[in-house]
Amino acid sequence: MGASVGFRFVSIPGHRVVTHPQTLPTDERLEPELPPLQEAVERAFASAEFRDVKAKDRVRALLQGDATPGLGSPGAGFGASAVFAQPPQDLPALLRLADELESLARHESGERALVWKCAECGTRYAVPVALVRTVSIRCERCGNPVELNPQRSLGEESLIDPFLGAVNGCRRELAAFFREAMARGWPVLVASEEGSSGS
Ligand SMILES: [Zn+2]
Repeated sequence: MGASVGFRFVSIPGHRVVTHPQTLPTDERLEPELPPLQEAVERAFASAEFRDVKAKDRVRALLQGDATPGLGSPGAGFGASAVFAQPPQDLPALLRLADELESLARHESGERALVWKCAECGTRYAVPVALVRTVSIRCERCGNPVELNPQRSLGEESLIDPFLGAVNGCRRELAAFFREAMARGWPVLVASEEGSSGS
């Protein structure tokens, strides 16, 4: 336990769900495009809740608890699936989860910064918006003066680190996937990577 467990969400029409050991059909299927970075996917879920339970704990309980998932696998390398959310009864809870994921992504989208480039050597300088004032510095690399004038910056960017950027990408992708599945009235299924459940 505690090790990073790969899991996979898919959604297909309810009447096409098959039982394990068959494989879920691929011709009519929604699936979020998540980065191959399981830590980012887990972190995306970290503080989001589904029906008053941490979404991550619900996934764990469905896949690693006493109840064995009995539905078809989403594909090679993955075990049997369990129902994560079933419309219409889970529709409001899943839409709330989608809202929560999107607001987490907005909230953690990082500090904004203004960016300049040294005219001589091209070295970039980013200063958090809150700390910006017009000042001239010497370029660390070439010594050329660089004027950090807000009117002449190259624009704004986010100071977010790449990992958190991936986490927020997962949140937005999952939120869009959940919304689309519920709009179609399809159940959302989840499966874990084979060999990772420790059974
Ligand atoms: Zn320079």
